[in-house]
Amino acid sequence: MNKGVKHKEKGDKFEGVRKKLIGMRQAILSEAKAEVDQILSEEDKYNGVSDDGDFADVAFRDAMQASKLTRHRLQLRDIEEALRKIEFGTYGICDDCEEEIPIGRLNVMPFALRCVDCQEKHEMMSSEAEETAVPLHESSEGSND
Ligand SMILES: [Zn+2]
Repeated sequence: MNKGVKHKEKGDKFEGVRKKLIGMRQAILSEAKAEVDQILSEEDKYNGVSDDGDFADVAFRDAMQASKLTRHRLQLRDIEEALRKIEFGTYGICDDCEEEIPIGRLNVMPFALRCVDCQEKHEMMSSEAEETAVPLHESSEGSND
């Protein structure tokens, strides 16, 4: 009659972090939803806009909101990834160097997927990639007649 039930310890260590992540995800989702609702409710402003100033203003605010939404989407992606890592038991391990991420860092940034060093390198690399993606000079042609 002994079925040898094992205790699931998986994720217990990070139960507090997991709750925090879920709370954060909830907060971001409801904030993002409120923003989307606002964008949708302002949509008819485009129809009634007659002068360019208004239009630019509305477009500018839309762009601001869109970038906010993009940031939320990135945050959500990290949070989902962190939650998945807790499930798989790989949470708290740096994505790049596979060293343990200090618990102090995880408490402050539960969605951190990398240690401080690797995160800095990663951010440096992605900002460099963004910069090089923008062509600096496109004026090499069209001058000879
Ligand atoms: Zn690392």
